[in-house]
Amino acid sequence: MESLLKAGELQYRYSKKLFEEFIGTRKHIKEILYSVETPTLLMDLEGVKSKYVQIKYHLPEVSIYYAVKANDHRDILRVLHSVGSGFEVASCKELQEVLSLGVSPERIISSNPVKPEEFIDYAYNAGVNRFAVDSFTEVDKIARITQRAGVYVRLTVPNEGSEWPLSRKFGVNEETALKILEYARDKGLIPIGVTFHVGSQCNNLRNWFIAVKSSSNLWNKALSKGIKLLVLNMGGGIPVRYTGEVLRIEDIAYYVRGLLRKYFTSLPYELQIEPGRSLVGDQGILVTRVIGKAQRGRENWLYLDTGVFNGLAEVLGGIRYPVFAEGKGELKEWILAGVSCDSLDVIAKSVYLPEPEVGDRIFLLSAGAYTSVYASEFNGFPKLKVKCL
Ligand SMILES: *Cc1c(COP(=O)(O)O)cnc(C)c1O
Repeated sequence: MESLLKAGELQYRYSKKLFEEFIGTRKHIKEILYSVETPTLLMDLEGVKSKYVQIKYHLPEVSIYYAVKANDHRDILRVLHSVGSGFEVASCKELQEVLSLGVSPERIISSNPVKPEEFIDYAYNAGVNRFAVDSFTEVDKIARITQRAGVYVRLTVPNEGSEWPLSRKFGVNEETALKILEYARDKGLIPIGVTFHVGSQCNNLRNWFIAVKSSSNLWNKALSKGIKLLVLNMGGGIPVRYTGEVLRIEDIAYYVRGLLRKYFTSLPYELQIEPGRSLVGDQGILVTRVIGKAQRGRENWLYLDTGVFNGLAEVLGGIRYPVFAEGKGELKEWILAGVSCDSLDVIAKSVYLPEPEVGDRIFLLSAGAYTSVYASEFNGFPKLKVKCL
C-alpha cells in the first residue's frame, strides 16, 4: 500500500510538472483554463510552429511533410504552411483542405500505400504526383489513372518499442519492394524512392537503424537493376512525452544523420519525414469536467464529460495521458471513465488525483495528436471542441 501511494505521488508530481511547464509559458491558455467550455482541446499555435522549427533545425537537410491526420484543424495547417511545411494527405477532404490554404501541390505527398481510386484521380488532377505503394495492385491502380506519377515503395520495418505499432498492415520486404519498383517502371510509372514508418510514438532507435539500413540495401539493389532512386521518405514516429520521458528529437536526428552518412555514399536527392504526433501532440491540453463519482467495491470511479469515443481512442492502444487536477486533499487512486454508456469507454486506470467534486476540471496533457480527429458523436455526446490560440 505504502509503495503504491508512493508511486501515485510520483505520478501526480510528474503530471503536475508537465502541467506547470505547459501553462507556465502559455499565459493565453492559462487564462481560459477555468472558463472555456468543456470538453475542449486547447492548442498552442506558436508551440506547433516552434516544434516545426526545432525539427527543421535538427534535420536541416530533410523536407518536412506534416501528416494531416494527426490533427487537421485549419489553423494548425495554416500555421505550418506559413513556416514552409509540406503536407502528407490520404483523403480528398484532407487534400482539399490543404489546397484551399494555397499550398502548392509539389509540397503535398500521399504515403498511405493503399488508396481509393477516386482519391488518386482527384489528387493527380490537382497536381499531386507522388504516391506510396506496397503492392502490385496499387501500381496497377495508379497506372490506370496516369503514366506520369512517381511512386515510392513502403518497406516493412520492425515496430518493437513503438506504442502504436502499425503491425503488418503495410509494407513489404526488400525483395518484393524491388519487384514492385521494377513492375512500376514496366507499367510506365516513375519509381522514385523508398519509404518506411517505424511505428507511431517510437521510442527505440534500433527501428530507425534497421529501417535506414534496409532502405539503403533496396536503394543499391534498385540501382543494379537500372533504377536510380531519388527520394528517401522516413515516415513519422518521433515520440512525445506522455507519462514518461522519451527520446528527444535532437538525439533521434543526430542518430539518423549518422545512419544516413554510414549507409548512403551520397545523400538521396530528397530526404523526407512525415511527422504527425511530434508536431502537435504536446502542444495541446484537453480540458474536461467531472460529471460523476462512484465507489464500486474498492474502486473509486471518476466520470468525465469526454471519453474513448469522443477523442480518446488512443487509450485503447496503450497511450496514457498525464492527468492533472488542482486540489489540496490527499491523493486517491481513480479509474477514469468516459461519458458514454459503453463498457469499453474507460480512459485510464490507476490515476492518482486529489479528490475532485462534480463540476471540477480535469486536464489531460499532451492531447494534441490523434484526439479531435478520432472523435465521434457516439451516444449523442458532442465531439471535442478544438480552440487554437
Ligand atoms: C500517420 C502517418 C504518419 C505520422 O506518424 P506519427 O507517428 O504521428 O509521426 C506519417 N506517415 C504516414 C504514412 C502515416 O500514415
